[in-house]
Amino acid sequence: MDINDFARMNHERSVTNDPKKAFDWEYYLIAMSGECGELLNKLKKIKRGDFPLNREEIAEEVTDVLTYTFLLLSELGIDVENAIMKKYEKVNQRLANGGFHVR
Ligand SMILES: [Mg+2]
Repeated sequence: MDINDFARMNHERSVTNDPKKAFDWEYYLIAMSGECGELLNKLKKIKRGDFPLNREEIAEEVTDVLTYTFLLLSELGIDVENAIMKKYEKVNQRLANGGFHVR
């Protein structure tokens, strides 16, 4: 399976399970941000010493962020793999031109 296959499958599942037709790009952006919050909350608790780093839990939260990120892109009709590669090449170009602090 490639990235776009996953993005399509993920989007189809989400739309199928949306009886109120409430899932739009704004919903996915809010959900993605919520998952970032969950990830940051885990980091807060690790930093505070509540519990040690658990890679499996971090992976799960990061995957939640990715899942909603893919849904957001799919809902906007953006080709996920193309968007990732386009940005990757843009960063490559920036690095080739002296790094992130050069505009
Ligand atoms: Mg989560």
